[in-house]
Amino acid sequence: TQASTVAAFSGSNVMADGFRVPLLANVGTGADAVKAADAGAEGVGLLRTEFCFLDRDDEPTVEEQIAAYGAVFAAFPGKKVVVRTLDAGADKPLPFLTNADEPNPALGVRGYRTDLTSPGVLERQLAAIAAAEAANQAEVWVMAPMISTAEEAAHFAALCSAAGLKTPGVMVEVPSAALTAASVLREVSFASLGTNDLTQYAMAADRQLGPLATLNDPWQPAVLQLVKLTADGAAAASSGGNPRPVGVCGEAAADPALAVVLVGLGVATLSMSARALAAVSAVLATVTVAQAQQLATTALSAPSASAARQAVRAQLPILDELG
Ligand code: PEP
Ligand code: MG
Repeated sequence: TQASTVAAFSGSNVMADGFRVPLLANVGTGADAVKAADAGAEGVGLLRTEFCFLDRDDEPTVEEQIAAYGAVFAAFPGKKVVVRTLDAGADKPLPFLTNADEPNPALGVRGYRTDLTSPGVLERQLAAIAAAEAANQAEVWVMAPMISTAEEAAHFAALCSAAGLKTPGVMVEVPSAALTAASVLREVSFASLGTNDLTQYAMAADRQLGPLATLNDPWQPAVLQLVKLTADGAAAASSGGNPRPVGVCGEAAADPALAVVLVGLGVATLSMSARALAAVSAVLATVTVAQAQQLATTALSAPSASAARQAVRAQLPILDELG
């Protein structure tokens, strides 16, 4: 019965009270996108564009980029695809954008910051995304990684607008962006929490170092506080008919118990590797929004990451069935 519970994922994404939480996929290539669509993803919540070009020493041409992005859009006709602009640097170096000699690559010129040192690359990428959107039927949203300030968000939104892209957003993965979420979100249409980096930067613990894994845990109450600040800031920045939805596209969204907590903290969509969709969907279907909010309060007030995890898991009996 366990396997059948998980295999039953139909892409319906409905909680016990009927509240909908779209479950999206993280993908790096067109081939990934086809697999994600087959697995029932409602769309793409994170297209890591640097994965299309990791083997490249030079900047891909606009035509090559149009082909790479178009292959992803084609797998999700009429569906939402959130494209992240190049996140080069630190754990994802790209020779044409990043300087291998930086003393602290995680705190260096990475993500959106490469626009400071390699002007033009971002404009060409946005032009390619716009052209691929025009050639396909997907609903394309575009977001910048490693945004730290509202000024950066405003600059990115202006570049998107100049390229003809209508839905600009930011990743919230630097604590300063979470702490100033209302100002940041006033400049853009949405945010996506990158909990991998947000945890690394909140805990000052390199995400690639095994010995720091206990610190590098998105269940850390400090990280959950930053998630809440972001959701609350986005709600404050939303006006009338202009909501600013906040999603999560870090690994935290793939942990079914944590996914419930994230929804309880005010997160609207979850994006994860396709293989996690079924379990997250199965667990969300067993709780109401009010229960998720209670579990979020429990996790936020726990004295440690392990206590938060344990207290929440104890309230979700379906996890035993899923194994
Ligand atoms: C994150 O930081 O959580 C994220 C989704 O981006 P990446 O893992 O690609 O840095
Ligand atoms: Mg990141």
